[in-house]
Amino acid sequence: MEIGKMYINGEWVAAVDAGTWKVHNPATGELVGEVAFGGGVEANQAIAAAHAAFPAWSGLTPRERAKYLLKLHDLVRANRDDLAERISAEMGKPLREAKGEVLGAADNFLWYAEEAKRVYGETIPSSVPGKRLFVLRQPVGVVAAITPWNFPVNMVARKLAPALAAGCTVILKPAESTPLSAIRLFELMEEAGFPAGVANLVIGNPAAIGEAFLASEHVRKIAFTGSTRVGKLLMAGAARTVKRVSLELGGHAPVLVFADANLDQAVHGVFESKYRTSGQQCICANRLYVEDSIHDAFVEKLKERILAAKVGDGREKGVEIGPLVNAAAVEKVMQHVDDAVSKGAKAVVGGHRLTEGAYSQGHFMAPTLLTDVDETMLVCQQETFGPVLPVLRFQTEDEAIERANHTNYGLAAYVYTNNLSRALRVSEKLEYGMVGVNDGEFTQTQAPFGGFKESGLGREGGHHAMDEFLEVKMVSIALD
Ligand code: NAD
Repeated sequence: MEIGKMYINGEWVAAVDAGTWKVHNPATGELVGEVAFGGGVEANQAIAAAHAAFPAWSGLTPRERAKYLLKLHDLVRANRDDLAERISAEMGKPLREAKGEVLGAADNFLWYAEEAKRVYGETIPSSVPGKRLFVLRQPVGVVAAITPWNFPVNMVARKLAPALAAGCTVILKPAESTPLSAIRLFELMEEAGFPAGVANLVIGNPAAIGEAFLASEHVRKIAFTGSTRVGKLLMAGAARTVKRVSLELGGHAPVLVFADANLDQAVHGVFESKYRTSGQQCICANRLYVEDSIHDAFVEKLKERILAAKVGDGREKGVEIGPLVNAAAVEKVMQHVDDAVSKGAKAVVGGHRLTEGAYSQGHFMAPTLLTDVDETMLVCQQETFGPVLPVLRFQTEDEAIERANHTNYGLAAYVYTNNLSRALRVSEKLEYGMVGVNDGEFTQTQAPFGGFKESGLGREGGHHAMDEFLEVKMVSIALD
């Protein structure tokens, strides 16, 4: 098996100490790849390359930069199946989802290629005669992007596309579990002809690479998606050189289902927003609040939908729910389930690992629905990151909103109602960066994505993401 390499200054390189890292399929345990595994030395080489490439790349016109991004868009689309197979092999998500992820990534390269052309400045009327005020928007410089394993291609695209479009040069550090799809994406970037040093890939020890990014005065921005714990470390570390940070962190999404909702639509939306990627998305439903009068009927319908879902190797046809990413993830999910059950919750579906037959070599968890839940249980307080949904009852709209907001997280929330006034009232009061009204799948390239509170800072998506990679410069000219 060929060892996958890092991509620094336009060259494919091994780790300086020849270190490597093995990647296993979480559905079968099989070895699916081995990659170079570096650290601070390689990160510093990549920073130097990105710093050296910055003047020429930022000096291109947006139209010239867009040509590279458009070529990359075409290549990503053309290689959709190959990329999707790698995603599924290294982190387990069903192929159907993985293909959707790849198309989403391609869409980012297309959209930001266009958006690059619309980075407009301003002229501001002066209060003093004989002066002119202008505002320019310029790329921040070298960007270090750090991504998680749950969207191994799209999390990268969502950072690299706006950064490169804005004129920044970048270094990517992908998650340890999912370097193979990042390597494939960089092969496509090489094919698209990006100049050496514009985009660099460093794989290896997270703390050592993170420290190199934080210590460098050349890295002007950290774009991170991952846990709130690591996000806080990076934010504190960035203070040393006053770097910009944008943070897409954890979530604990509430879903509010009112008695006036279309129950079939709500069941569909809740199923998608909970069990997609086996519950391993930051925007996955984490607490389901159902109005008391429809609680039992709703639970019954949702139960049927969950029982109809096929669990298995994501590469198999018809599988809707894949494995969890690793053994530790299953442990954590089971800890949440056991804690809830010990405090009185009932697992009306699932509640256990899947370990027999085809599941025996993988990290599988039965999709789970818990009733008789209360908010003291771990599953209502911490991000479970697995296919477990606790159901709670509520009586009034105000009570539901208050309980939904009672968390340090503030990423995604969902509301199901057919009452327009209620939909507006509730959306406005939810302390979340994104609200889906009768919509369990709201992410689109052109819309802002991000969280309130400890779910993050800044936004990905849309024109909002371009601002994250642009400085604002005021120029005042006194006429003679
Ligand atoms: P994680 O924080 O453990 O890892 C994320 C990335 O940070 C990985 O590349 C990892 O190697 C790196 N990392 C770890 N320690 C580091 C350090 N000291 N310095 C620098 N980098 C370091 O998160 P994870 O388990 O890979 O991903 C799951 C988390 O990501 C969940 O909390 C989920 O909610 C969150 N997430 C958020 C969004 C969003 O858009 N808000 C999207 C997807 C995932």
